[in-house]
Amino acid sequence: MEFKAMRGFSDILPPATRRWEMLEERAREVLEGFGFSEIRVPILERAELFSRSIGEETDIVEKEMYTFEDRSGDCVTLRPEATASMVRAYIEHKLYAADPMAKLYSIGPMFRHERPQKGRHRQFHQINVEVFGVSQPMIDAEVMAILMHYLSLVEATNCHLQINSLGCPHCRLEYKEILRAFLKDHLSGLCEDCRRRMERNPLRTFDCKVPGCQEIMSKAPPISDYLCPPCAEHFAEVRKYLEILEIVYEVNPRMVRGLDYYARTTFEVVAGGLGAQNAVAAGGRYDQLVAALGGPDIPGIGFAIGMERLLLITPNKTLPSGPSLFIAALGEGLRRKAFGLSYKLNRACVKTLIDYEGRSLKAQMRRADKVGARYVLIIGENEQRTGQAILRDMKEKKQEEIPLSSIFEEIVKRLKEIAL
Ligand SMILES: [Zn+2]
Ligand SMILES: [Zn+2]
Repeated sequence: MEFKAMRGFSDILPPATRRWEMLEERAREVLEGFGFSEIRVPILERAELFSRSIGEETDIVEKEMYTFEDRSGDCVTLRPEATASMVRAYIEHKLYAADPMAKLYSIGPMFRHERPQKGRHRQFHQINVEVFGVSQPMIDAEVMAILMHYLSLVEATNCHLQINSLGCPHCRLEYKEILRAFLKDHLSGLCEDCRRRMERNPLRTFDCKVPGCQEIMSKAPPISDYLCPPCAEHFAEVRKYLEILEIVYEVNPRMVRGLDYYARTTFEVVAGGLGAQNAVAAGGRYDQLVAALGGPDIPGIGFAIGMERLLLITPNKTLPSGPSLFIAALGEGLRRKAFGLSYKLNRACVKTLIDYEGRSLKAQMRRADKVGARYVLIIGENEQRTGQAILRDMKEKKQEEIPLSSIFEEIVKRLKEIAL
């Protein structure tokens, strides 16, 4: 029997893990700088949390969730996205009690049973950013600016911000009627899912992946033409604030995110070179979601960045992964000395490697080369006799002598600055 990771599930191996860490570290720095705090929520939640928030008639809930009965008979789901869990935690722990405004972020895996393809996995990873308690359009612009700032910081290429407004439940009521009338005129061209969803949730037709449906929807009346005056004003203000922050964007009137909870501002960052799965980040406002999940009437806005897709559009810089120092020691006594010295250096954060196998000096030098050590410290009988070890710089191809008596201090002094 041969074990392999399941389809759509990937191992992330070194040195690629270093790139992941780097993207995560930059995200933490940027977000902490803008006053966000990290929140860690479980990856397993009651299935109902997602069906209630994302919406019963969405592709995610109908087709993609990992939902199963656990051993106590509870219906549970591996989270397909993080916003619902973050809202649940915000309500459960009354994070609004002292101050309704909360800026939170979370980094971790999500799960959707989709057909795996480039940039799309069944276990995928997101950086999630949410702001609760601010209804003013200023925060919409700020959140988008943070996203664009982060993307440029990690050198993501060819990123374009697209924005739209989905209106509020009030103006959507009128729009749904207009859309239904349009869909009825094109009924024969629609797939089964779209026909079924048309009555209760006509907006979902916009995210249908069937080419025939997409063709029809490209001619559908855009929701932005039917915004009520307060929603239209909110959208206009968002755009004004984006301009103050000098954020380049375009309005995409047909962008409708595939989740029911969005209202008013929605946005996506699309990137060239990603093919059909071209959104690297997406988000929007969800002013009714906190109340819909049993909390007070508090607005929210947020976005998620897809890490796998981000990796496809950021430079793959080869990072040095070898040790800083390889200690080549010869003879039993000196090998013991090397063992102790290596432990002390590693504790002092000098990445040090020794030979565990008792090989010849020549073989140890070959090994130092193979693992990509920057420096090699040579201690053999000669060195013991003279009291001077040899430190060889493998990159510059030069060497120097170091007194054995103060070898730890001397090496730390020289290598601390290149410690990885
Ligand atoms: Zn409205
Ligand atoms: Zn369809």
